[in-house]
Amino acid sequence: MVWRVSVDRELCLGSGICAALAPELFELAEERSRVRGGEAAPDDTLLDAADSCPAQAISVTDGARILGPRP
Ligand code: SF4
Repeated sequence: MVWRVSVDRELCLGSGICAALAPELFELAEERSRVRGGEAAPDDTLLDAADSCPAQAISVTDGARILGPRP
């Protein structure tokens, strides 16, 4: 299974939390986060990043269900 990860750059505040938690998947560009690739192996760190985003700009899905941010 592959998870899909996206960042809404319009919502992103540029805090850098996601890039600090999962630098292999997130990077800051022009003071906003962007996803490297967009797909990743299931990893709770990605859910932690989505949960930690102060702008709720990160979305993690398995292609059918929204996994993160968690309610
Ligand atoms: S944690 Fe959220 S607000 Fe902060 S850089 Fe990542 S996407 Fe942007």
